[in-house]
Amino acid sequence: MKSRDEIFDLLNEHLVHCDLCPRNCGVNRFNDEKGYCGAGGKPIVYQHFMHLGEESPITPAFVINFAHCNLNCPDCPERARWQNPALNTGNSEHYAHALAHYLSFHDMPESIEWIGGEPALEIKYVIETSWILKDILTDCPPIYLNTNGYFNPALFDCMAGAINGFVFDLKACADCAPKLCGARDYWPFVTGNIAKAIDDFGAEMVIIRHLVVPGHVRCCTMPVIDWCRKYAPQATFNLMTTYRAFGEHACGNEALPPNEAAIAREYAINAEFESLLINGDYI
Ligand code: SF4
Repeated sequence: MKSRDEIFDLLNEHLVHCDLCPRNCGVNRFNDEKGYCGAGGKPIVYQHFMHLGEESPITPAFVINFAHCNLNCPDCPERARWQNPALNTGNSEHYAHALAHYLSFHDMPESIEWIGGEPALEIKYVIETSWILKDILTDCPPIYLNTNGYFNPALFDCMAGAINGFVFDLKACADCAPKLCGARDYWPFVTGNIAKAIDDFGAEMVIIRHLVVPGHVRCCTMPVIDWCRKYAPQATFNLMTTYRAFGEHACGNEALPPNEAAIAREYAINAEFESLLINGDYI
């Protein structure tokens, strides 16, 4: 395993000509230059709270949301929220101690989750803060990266020792990803990263979440289930049928029609995953 100094050097290299994700913008994030995602030199945390509605194996989860994302999903519920004023979290040292102080006065959660936007855009802050948290919290719960999976696979080498597990959002099939996520190369990168996370961290530390989008059961949900059944059968699969359209970007239906939810649910059950959740709960 790489030393912390070696990891720091690697992360600095990724940030100085930003290639943290497949968009490869090449901007110098240390100079606050911004690429496609809009993230600059200073991470912005726009909310953090104890979440009681995450997947049951990791709930309650203390979640930390960063602003900015490298995808462009028309129905994103978070994009409007991160226009809120940033929390004054300070540097990694300051934030880790503040979190540890808070957690020491509450029942310890089942997990800590870095979420976005997309947390991989702030991976240096995530890793450094996670290291410090683990150093000062003897009973630190597992730390998860809750990610869209669209990041540079080279980052896995930097995560060991900081991140324990992953919640991947596998959103769409290869054909629909440009429309639903705004990325033509979404499918090979995200499925490749899920497979690598399973290899490196173990299937028991990987949750794959799929939100069924109205009108996309046969083109997206079924291929997603098929892929997971074939390449990630021991990971936990969470089928979400709770779609709601958000704001002016909403496309199609306001909610998932009941008949589409029933088809998706039956298909997931018939796939016979070792660990299947529907809307976050074991069935
Ligand atoms: S993280 Fe942002 S700036 Fe860096 S390559 Fe991806 S989109 Fe571009």
